Amino acid sequence: MHQPPLSHLTDADPAVAELIEAEATRQHDKVRLIASENYVSPAVLEATGSVLTNKYSEGYPGKRYYEGQQVVDPIEELAGERARTLFGVPHANVQPYSGSPANLAVHLAFMEPGDTFLSLELAHGGHLTHGSPVSITGKWLRPVHYGVGRTTGRVDMDRVRDLARKERPKVIFCGGTAIPRTIDFPAFAEIARETGAVLVADIAHIAGLVAGGAHPSPAGHADVITTTTHKTLRGPRGAMILTTEEHATAIDKAIFPGLQGGPHNHTTAAIAVALNEAARPEFRTYAHQVVANAKALAAALTDRGFDLVSGGTDNHLILVDLTNKDIAGKPAAKALDLAGIELNFNTVPFDPRKPWSPSGIRLGTAAITTRGLTEEHMTSIAEWIDRAVASAEDGPALDAIAGEIQDLLKGFPMPGWAPVR
Ligand SMILES: *Cc1c(COP(=O)(O)O)cnc(C)c1O
Repeated sequence: MHQPPLSHLTDADPAVAELIEAEATRQHDKVRLIASENYVSPAVLEATGSVLTNKYSEGYPGKRYYEGQQVVDPIEELAGERARTLFGVPHANVQPYSGSPANLAVHLAFMEPGDTFLSLELAHGGHLTHGSPVSITGKWLRPVHYGVGRTTGRVDMDRVRDLARKERPKVIFCGGTAIPRTIDFPAFAEIARETGAVLVADIAHIAGLVAGGAHPSPAGHADVITTTTHKTLRGPRGAMILTTEEHATAIDKAIFPGLQGGPHNHTTAAIAVALNEAARPEFRTYAHQVVANAKALAAALTDRGFDLVSGGTDNHLILVDLTNKDIAGKPAAKALDLAGIELNFNTVPFDPRKPWSPSGIRLGTAAITTRGLTEEHMTSIAEWIDRAVASAEDGPALDAIAGEIQDLLKGFPMPGWAPVR
């Protein structure tokens, strides 16, 4: 049953209620390895589903364009204060609707149309909002991209420095969606300082690891930090922008009135709840276990002949090039889904194949670690992945794996939902 229960929804709209139950069952029964996903706590779910969704609050605490902010103001102040404390930064804006609008606000705050910025190439692990040609950030600005080394699979800092000196970008972005290795924030900061650029660390993927002390923090190095709140940080769908005092006003103005209208107050409350959870000792344990699980899974996959970009991982994320397994990323991901293992097909650096059917898959351990899986289970997961990839066309074989996975996961409760007995 869903936690909190969906009793009103079941009466009022059984069709939607049934679909939500079906999704909950799916999340319960699968090994969820999508690197950007997680399971939030029932407390986060309750805040997200609260009456705060009824309230309009354009503006910031103490400076609103609507009345009746006696409760919303302290909620937003609490979320901001918890964000500042947890990440050790002077200013936090907790209003961005999601990671993409947070990055748009950064572009709006520091650049004019046509201005140059530097970021990681999408195909090497960047994000669409870091200047992809199909994104507004690529159409209206002038992105220049750095990448990873062909043999190392790691960001080439010499190339970053050369490009920054030559192009004199207004902004340098570090961070991305498919980076299995530690981001060298001090090295980026030095390059940004030398070339007069604003350094933005987009830690959407690793925010939970940073909060839990399992990845170095960009605080004190980056001028601006953007992050989603729903990936390793394990909060609601939302985002935050953390800044130095110097850039606080520019960022606040870019979010509102520059880009957005009223903040989603139910999300703000849920962010506050998630940040409180992330400040606890258990969360530090969680963040370190996420990394330990990823390292164990990477080692087990390597043992089975899988080719890992950069040869392994330092964080929650693993990028696998399937070329030597004679299968492309997409058919592999589809077969794995049938086998009860959910992940996504992904471009690998220097991929000879097209983005819609690339050579790789991307895996992350944030969600399975929340379920309570540890290193010992990573060997089984690697074995299931190997079997499923080798028998991608064999329905009964994939079914058998899905059954074994359900048996394992029965012993690991899912926050927010439990099967009715
Ligand atoms: C997920 C992600 C985003 C975008 O977040 P959305 O909430 O999906 O808009 C931005 N940057 C990076 C690096 C991400 O991984």
